[in-house]
Amino acid sequence: MHNSAPINRRKSTRIYVGKVPIGDGAPIAVQSMTNTRTTDVDATVNQIQALERVGVDIVRVSVPTMEAAEAFRLIKQRVNVPLVADIHFDYRIALKVAEYGVDCLRINPGNIGNEARIRSVVDCARDKNIPIRIGVNAGSLERDLQEKYGEPTPQALLESAMRHVDILDRLNFDQFKVSVKASDVFLAVESYRLLASRIDQPLHLGITEAGGARSGSVKSAIGLGLLLSEGIGDTLRISLAADPVEEVKVGFDILKSLRIRARGINFIACPTCSRQEFDVIGTVNALEQRLEDIVTPMDISIIGCVVNGPGEALVSTIGVTGGHNKSGFYEDGVRQRERFDNENMIDQLEAKIRAKAAMLDESKRITVNLIEN
Ligand code: SF4
Repeated sequence: MHNSAPINRRKSTRIYVGKVPIGDGAPIAVQSMTNTRTTDVDATVNQIQALERVGVDIVRVSVPTMEAAEAFRLIKQRVNVPLVADIHFDYRIALKVAEYGVDCLRINPGNIGNEARIRSVVDCARDKNIPIRIGVNAGSLERDLQEKYGEPTPQALLESAMRHVDILDRLNFDQFKVSVKASDVFLAVESYRLLASRIDQPLHLGITEAGGARSGSVKSAIGLGLLLSEGIGDTLRISLAADPVEEVKVGFDILKSLRIRARGINFIACPTCSRQEFDVIGTVNALEQRLEDIVTPMDISIIGCVVNGPGEALVSTIGVTGGHNKSGFYEDGVRQRERFDNENMIDQLEAKIRAKAAMLDESKRITVNLIEN
């Protein structure tokens, strides 16, 4: 395992979305959002369960109508992961999903309407221990702020967020988190930096409307990478015009890359060249798919030849270094006598990785038992 200096995280207050802690040093929670019709209960439940299988911590579901609120009640009964209801204006929907056990309300208090409506939602959230997410988005900035600043700027996004924050402050409600998203990386990053210096509550990170799977992942990795490496951010959602399952995988990949949160396998693979002794790309692609169910943190290096193979293998949980017909196999940085047939690389590696994951899980279980007893 490579050593790296730990990131000093910004100090923040703690909220809970269901049982998932956010802020105050809690693991950075990875979120996604369903893109099925919420009224299609089976499709939405299936998508949430697919997200759970890849490790999502929290799922947001849009609830635009009372009909969707009724569907939300049924969905909530069938899934385990905490659910955030995305509500834009209608305070009655917020009250309804609160009754149905929602774990967090994504609603901007300034958009709810008159004081009585705001109070009814905030009082309900307080009574039921439901946190609120304030979500400011450069694409839907208030008209007066557009006119004041001429365009969405970091200061404009901050001012918008603080309007909602001030409402909750005035009502003495502090169980909230805030996002200030933009599709422009620099605008989002600077907005979050400003916000981080103004409030103590947890921050929900995202580059909104980031794009398709590839371009959106790159933008998100740059924007969130900058912020996370500065210690800013307590939960995140990668917004992709793609299957939401990809959002979760990319979110974990960003956290793994920064060594902030480990989950599953961190693959290290060379780009390949004419020196490769086995099919590196085919092996990595196959193993990424086959080993999606592994949650044990492991570094696995798959390198095509001895130029870089031994060096990477030394700092990996399991490493393979391409050789003629047979390839070198390393475990915990130690070269093993056993070698892999290049022809049968994928099956052999899968078996080794699964065995190693089971062993690591077992030793962790024994350690936890010893500590608890
Ligand atoms: S490790 Fe070997 S096979 Fe892989 S890119 Fe480098 S030289 Fe080529």
